[in-house]
Amino acid sequence: MTTDWKALEQKYYMQTVRRQPVVIVRGLGSKVWDDTGKEYIDFTSGWAVDALGHANPMIADAIAEQARTLIQTSNQFYTIPQIKLAQALVENSALDRVFICNSGAEANEGAVKLARKYGKVKKNGAYEIITAFGGFHGRTMNMVAATAQPHYHENFKPIPEGFKYVAYNDVEAIMAATTEKTVAVMLEPVQGEGGVIVPDPSYLKRVRQWCDEKGLLLILDEIQTGIGRLGTLFGYQSFGAEPDVMTLAKGLGGGVPIGAFLAKEQYCVLSPGDHGSTFGGNPLTCAAANATVRYIVEHDVPAQAKKTGEYMLKGLNELKKKHSFITEVRGMGLLQAVVFDREMSAAVLKECNQRGVLLNGVRPNAIRIMPALNIGKAEVDEGLRRLEAGMVAAVATVAKPQTAEKR
Ligand SMILES: *Cc1c(COP(=O)(O)O)cnc(C)c1O
Repeated sequence: MTTDWKALEQKYYMQTVRRQPVVIVRGLGSKVWDDTGKEYIDFTSGWAVDALGHANPMIADAIAEQARTLIQTSNQFYTIPQIKLAQALVENSALDRVFICNSGAEANEGAVKLARKYGKVKKNGAYEIITAFGGFHGRTMNMVAATAQPHYHENFKPIPEGFKYVAYNDVEAIMAATTEKTVAVMLEPVQGEGGVIVPDPSYLKRVRQWCDEKGLLLILDEIQTGIGRLGTLFGYQSFGAEPDVMTLAKGLGGGVPIGAFLAKEQYCVLSPGDHGSTFGGNPLTCAAANATVRYIVEHDVPAQAKKTGEYMLKGLNELKKKHSFITEVRGMGLLQAVVFDREMSAAVLKECNQRGVLLNGVRPNAIRIMPALNIGKAEVDEGLRRLEAGMVAAVATVAKPQTAEKR
């Protein structure tokens, strides 16, 4: 008799996510298998986390070896994987120091604490942080506040203060919102969860200039865009503008839960007692991340992601030419979206699951594609074939346009 895992989940788990009806039990590279043995091409890679694919033997070996050596002590002591990872991140970025934590939201929390303290000691108590509508910064209370999407606030009031929202891709809006209370601007180089919104090529450079002029910290939330996703190791390198503070998570650990925030030396104002973490920077996750980051740098995986991304974008644009229900294909590197003329993401996901390709429904009328950075061309081709068949099946089941996309 087979176990009904979906029924057990419904009984025991908090119902906070709309899950797709697939029980994934195993993965290898860019493929996964469900509990019935069915194979899927994985265009989601664990929400842009499995940067080097599933069950990567190099990462698995690093984890296994570290697990047999030392999993956890605490930050009372020095541990070598943490120091090695810190070195790898600093030497390969424009930032000078790092703090390692356990998730994206936590990395952003640390960055905000750093900015607030900087404002307190260096900028007359300035505390306000400007963020952009449509952005996404995580699920802790402060990151709910930083995320300028009202539907995330609704059930959780009072929402912490100290964030001001402006339109994305609009430097003048940031200028207009800046006051003597402003200490930082926090943005994603490309908005991921907001629908894969790529800003104007000059946007970040111009924000950088404004921050320099006003002495504001530029915090880039690179939790999704960092570690090769946009075709450069960090997203800011694709836009020619360096942050003062940068946050990482998702792809950083090659699958294990880990986050980090980095800052330039002059902004490293947190002192002993200001911040900490029990699990943050533990040897196990740092060994996995260290193996992941060093492999990505040594093999120039970002360049590979860039090439594969261009190949995929070409394929998606061919689908757009063939099918009028696709209104837009957009993205950068291996972070892409397909936009429809109607709200049919759910139907597309359902039909695509049946045909063996996993996707993310980023908007009611748009799907997001974010495969492993080392996905092969053959898997891209096969994934796109299944996606096309799934979209064509879905479009027949969903009535013609009600709403165009609202941006
Ligand atoms: C996923 C994401 C987060 C939140 O990361 P968690 O690890 O889920 O806390 C924050 N910012 C961006 C840009 C993200 O994509």
